Amino acid sequence: MKKLIQGIVEFRKGLTPEYRNLFAKLALGQKPDALFIACSDSRVVPNLFASTNPGDLLVLRNIGNLIPPPESKTEESTQAGLEFAIFNLNIQDIIVCGHSECGAINTLIQGCNKNCPHTSAWLEHARPAHKKVQDGLVIHPGLSESNQTSLVNVLQQIEHISRYPFVREKLDKGELRIHGWWFDIAQADVYCYEPTLNQFVLIDENESEIILKRVTN
Ligand SMILES: [Zn+2]
Repeated sequence: MKKLIQGIVEFRKGLTPEYRNLFAKLALGQKPDALFIACSDSRVVPNLFASTNPGDLLVLRNIGNLIPPPESKTEESTQAGLEFAIFNLNIQDIIVCGHSECGAINTLIQGCNKNCPHTSAWLEHARPAHKKVQDGLVIHPGLSESNQTSLVNVLQQIEHISRYPFVREKLDKGELRIHGWWFDIAQADVYCYEPTLNQFVLIDENESEIILKRVTN
C-alpha cells in the first residue's frame, strides 16, 4: 500500500497543465475509442502497453477476461459493461485481451481451491476453451497448455459476446467489431488474432497497418 499512497501524492505533485486540462475536459464527458476487456492480473496494464490516455478506453476487467454467454443467468456486471459500452457510449470496437501465464487459466486447469466456489463457478466460462485444447486445438505451436488455453479462451469469449442478440445485430450491420488480443508478459508484446490466418500475429508496424485498414474500411 505504501507505494500506492506515495504514488497518489507523486501524481498530484507532478500533474502537468496539459493533464489538468485533459481531466477538466474529460469531466464534461467521455468518448472512448474501444471497450477493452482484460484479465484483472496486476501484470496486464493496457494503458501502459497501448500507450493510452485517460478517456481513451472503457476498461472491463475480471478474473480471466471472461464474458458469460447469453444463456448464463449467474452474473450481470460483465453483460452490463457490454450494454453500457454499446448503448450509452456507442462504442464500435471491442477488444478481448487475454495474456500469458494467466492465474485464472492455471486455476481452471489445475482445479480450484474448495474454499472458492465463486471462482470455480466463474472459471467454468473458460472451460470450453480448455476442452478444445485438450481435444487437440493448437492456435500457436510451442505454447504450454495454459498459454494455449489462454489464447483459445480469447476466441471463446468473443464467441460468447457475439451471441448476445444486441451485439449480433450491430455486428451484422457492420456497426461493431470485436478484436482478439493476447499479451505476452515476458516479452511485453501484444498479439492480434487474424481470422484469415487463424493465428495471433505480433502487433508491430506491419500488423498495425493491417488492423487499422480493417477498422477504417
Ligand atoms: Zn489472467
